[in-house]
Amino acid sequence: MPGRLQYKSALITGAGSGIGLEAAILFAQEGAYVLLVDVNLAAAQAAADLINAKIEGKRALATRADVGKEADVKAAVDLAVKKFGRLDVMFNNAGIMHPQDDNALNTEEKIWDLTMQINLKGVWWGCKYAILAMRKNPTDEAKGLHTGGSIINTASFVAIMGAATPQLAYTASKGAVLAMTRELAMVHAREGIRVNSICPGPLKTPLLMDFLNTAEKKERRLVHLPMGRFGEAVEVARGALFLASDESSYMTGTDFKVDGGLTSAY
Ligand code: NAD
Repeated sequence: MPGRLQYKSALITGAGSGIGLEAAILFAQEGAYVLLVDVNLAAAQAAADLINAKIEGKRALATRADVGKEADVKAAVDLAVKKFGRLDVMFNNAGIMHPQDDNALNTEEKIWDLTMQINLKGVWWGCKYAILAMRKNPTDEAKGLHTGGSIINTASFVAIMGAATPQLAYTASKGAVLAMTRELAMVHAREGIRVNSICPGPLKTPLLMDFLNTAEKKERRLVHLPMGRFGEAVEVARGALFLASDESSYMTGTDFKVDGGLTSAY
């Protein structure tokens, strides 16, 4: 049976760890060629090696890019097109969270700027260069390939609701990702380019565990989780696979929540 991303090419940022790593594995298992992009090249390369060892077809490549630098993002998209001939899926997933409470009164401008640079401008540049590449994707009816593609931007549940453990710059950056995603979805819908956000709930990945770095902080967050547990990165990656594939062909502009029910909770 053909995979859900058979013949397609995908670029994933933040692919050295967490959601990005799990998505790279799933996308490759479903037949995609994947470019794993991370500021940590060793992590991205290890992930690509793992995929190539486990899954047939030498489907994974790794490259270093800092998504907070426009030239790096452009170079990564160019590399995907050069190596795979097209770009069908762009998963703008890399993000950072300052590992300390960061509220309106104590946040530092340099933290605010760095967070926006990576979490917001990085996603903008990822969308920009993906759109330019997707417009040029050749159509191949026999393989089910078309001009256009699917862009997925990782936001967060904090883009929808206020977190009691403040991360002001992070929250603002993720809210802006949702707004930008909706607008891009409208502007590019008729070009066959779908743009969706994915909103993970709290996950057991280094990003959150470094922030909730005491048992007490973890317990405080767990109280609010309807399922009483943190999510696994692969549970979000499965949502990203759905948005990447043609199974979500009538979805664009959504904020797809994979949050264990958190945003419905009171
Ligand atoms: P993670 O820490 O496991 O992985 C993040 C990866 O991004 C790392 O490999 C890191 O090296 C890479 N990265 C960081 N800065 C980068 C940059 N400038 N350029 C390229 N790569 C960079 O984190 P994760 O939990 O998998 O987070 C992935 C995304 O999910 C982030 O956007 C995060 O904000 C979002 N998110 C996470 C949670 C959570 O609870 N973990 C919740 C909601 C949203």
